Amino acid sequence: MSSMRFDAIKQSLTRTPVKITETERRSDLFGQNVFNQNTMRQSLTKDAYSAVMSAVETGSKIDRNIADQIASSMKDWAMSKGATHYTHWFQPLTGATAEKHDAFFETIEGGMSVEKFGGGQLVQQEPDASSFPNGGIRNTFEARGYTAWDPTSPAFIYGTTLCIPTVFVAYTGEALDYKTPLLRALQAVDHAAVDVVKYFDKNVKKVNASLGWEQEYFLVDSTLAATRPDIVLTGRTLLGHAPAKGQQLDDHYFGSIPARVMSFMMDLEMECMKLGIPVKTRHNEVAPNQFELAPIYEEANLAVDHNSLIMDIMDRVGSRHNFKVLMHEKPFAGVNGSGKHNNWSLSTDTGVNLLSPGKTPMSNLQFLTFFVNTIKAVNDNEELVRSSIASASNDHRLGANEAPPAIISVFIGSQLTSVLQGLKEVTKGKLSPEEKTELKLNVVGKIPEILLDNTDRNRTSPFAFTGNKFEFRAVGSLANCAKPMTVLNTIIANQLKVFKADVDALITKKDMKKDDAIFNVLREYIKSSERILFEGNGYGDAWEKEAKKRGLSNNKTTPEALKVEIAPATIALYESLGVMNKTEIEARHEIEIEEYTLRVQIEARVLGDIARNHVIPTALKYQNTLIENVKGLKDIYGAGFKKYAAEQLTLIEDISARVAAINSGVTDLINKRKAANTIEDVQVKAETYCNKVKPYFDTIRYHCDKLELLIDDEIWPLTKYRELLFTK
Ligand code: ADP
Ligand code: MG
Repeated sequence: MSSMRFDAIKQSLTRTPVKITETERRSDLFGQNVFNQNTMRQSLTKDAYSAVMSAVETGSKIDRNIADQIASSMKDWAMSKGATHYTHWFQPLTGATAEKHDAFFETIEGGMSVEKFGGGQLVQQEPDASSFPNGGIRNTFEARGYTAWDPTSPAFIYGTTLCIPTVFVAYTGEALDYKTPLLRALQAVDHAAVDVVKYFDKNVKKVNASLGWEQEYFLVDSTLAATRPDIVLTGRTLLGHAPAKGQQLDDHYFGSIPARVMSFMMDLEMECMKLGIPVKTRHNEVAPNQFELAPIYEEANLAVDHNSLIMDIMDRVGSRHNFKVLMHEKPFAGVNGSGKHNNWSLSTDTGVNLLSPGKTPMSNLQFLTFFVNTIKAVNDNEELVRSSIASASNDHRLGANEAPPAIISVFIGSQLTSVLQGLKEVTKGKLSPEEKTELKLNVVGKIPEILLDNTDRNRTSPFAFTGNKFEFRAVGSLANCAKPMTVLNTIIANQLKVFKADVDALITKKDMKKDDAIFNVLREYIKSSERILFEGNGYGDAWEKEAKKRGLSNNKTTPEALKVEIAPATIALYESLGVMNKTEIEARHEIEIEEYTLRVQIEARVLGDIARNHVIPTALKYQNTLIENVKGLKDIYGAGFKKYAAEQLTLIEDISARVAAINSGVTDLINKRKAANTIEDVQVKAETYCNKVKPYFDTIRYHCDKLELLIDDEIWPLTKYRELLFTK
């Protein structure tokens, strides 16, 4: 018996792990291929070095002369490491990273050639970008876009290419990428936070947002994955019966890492070290063949770049080890999905984490200020927060019965809950000296420096405070972190500005002391944000009902969730902070909503094909075998054959019924899809795909999965869940 499936299984079972040896200490490897501060200090002139540093710290422009010097040093450094090409590396709205390589090599007069790389090429480039999604911006305004150097994220060498992180914008200035709005949001939060920190410490000049992401993923043997058209084309399985053993034994989480996976991880980690990605943690996740990787947190823009980069590297390192890396949020039905927790905080240039409780009541008041403002920002913008993580693939987690839910809420743990209760009781107006002492001793003073509360235990919360940072857990594993980080930092920036105005108003108009004003404002914020705080179980109906009562949104699908992105209040929010203008917002929304439609459309086609070309023919083949068998029994036993053929006859009927159901399901699916394709309005089209096309996936799948159980394993063409999930 030979089939693609069995050949693949045989191959996957006989693989030997690629041998990886660590010859250098990781700390020596770290940053080897990065044109980082250290390298710059060594290779740049003093002027050039300070120009870059000031561009990084204050956003100042680098003049052309200096850019030429930097480019030249960068080129020499890159060539000394074996680089032959350079590229502007950027993050278009496709979600992947993009690059177009150009050689340093150039010919000059007289048939000679040199290696050249000037400031012009460093600072700006024009990729032929007409085929990146732009939501109509480029068509309407200008023919082309350009990429421009982002000095806040250091250049690096990957393979033999010098990669220069860049933004991607239209000639008219509109952002065509993820990075541009993120940088603007980070600047907005920096300014707003510095203004607020000044209440507590006048020396602070800059506040950085930090991001520590945790990336979950599945590893599937690449040969096995190649036998599944659904995995190849959609990144997930569209059918497949649950294995007899799943994750119910909980024997995978933190279990020992299989040898082959271990070499993949080591290889990946060494690549990361060279690229200055500070990966630190690796472990098995809940589901079989599911793993997680996490670095030490970094400044948010750099962390976003590093996550985009690592997703790309994982893919490449995976193939060296014959693994297909599945980053999809829900590659297997009935098996735990993957997320990308985004740990977020704010910290000052004086080294203070603003979300870390301090030693003194004063530093705790600063902590409470940022803590409460974050809660208030999420409360006032919960729907926008939800939209920031919406995608066709993440709908399988958020909209389905899996943590976290589509309802945004904030978990803070019991200790901080009681602190907020205490603050709610603060007297209106000026505080008496007794009350202040009482507050210092018993409310603010009671916040322990290290929160011993088991904050991390509530795994169902989409947004949890975990001791010294908030952890946004609803981000999808496939997502570019830039989008949730843009939204989060934007709403915090806005909230901090409102806070500053509110406190200043009390100080100037009501003649309050600063502390009194802060306590008064925080008290009102706590009262008006209470609905977002939730400590209970995020799964299930009880919370859905409760959340509805509280007026929280519960947008289970992407077309629903994205609507708020173009609401007038959202546009006003982004425009007031200079993060995005109306054109950019609308263009992005259009791209995302179309992306949703395209994803579902592709899945619909693939599912239809697999059902008709793989499942039905196999079912009929098996049915024919059964019919032959029944005919044979009839030959032997004549009229009495039924006594011996009862099971077979039931199977024959069952197969016919299921084949009919699949066939009509696929026909309906195709018709609905065709009808949906004629719809002009992108929103209505996406909703039609979501509500009219997608439901057929379940019906078709249901019958296909039943057939998988009925049909002779020997002839089943699609690699099964147990084989995909338990081959190590
Ligand atoms: P765990 O949640 O596994 O107990 P930690 O709480 O130490 O581990 O951190 C989880 C993640 O949070 C890590 O990726 C870490 O880098 C990140 N993290 C820790 N502190 C911060 C911070 N101040 N800002 C952003 N991310 C942080
Ligand atoms: Mg976590």
